[in-house]
Amino acid sequence: MDIDGEIECPQCGRSFTVLIREISAGATKSCPNGHRIKLTETGGAGKTAQQSLDDLDRAFKRFGK
Ligand SMILES: [Zn+2]
Repeated sequence: MDIDGEIECPQCGRSFTVLIREISAGATKSCPNGHRIKLTETGGAGKTAQQSLDDLDRAFKRFGK
């Protein structure tokens, strides 16, 4: 099951869509402005996958989706 949602680029603040499984896999994505983002580092290094998902969930609410 692919669940997607928007995250915010830590470098430029642009939101863009990623898949939850890409975060779990530690994939690297490019934001709309071309910044390379290691998804497991979203929300801070050293967090567990679940904490990252919690952060993502908050990000979804912040964007109203
Ligand atoms: Zn960016």
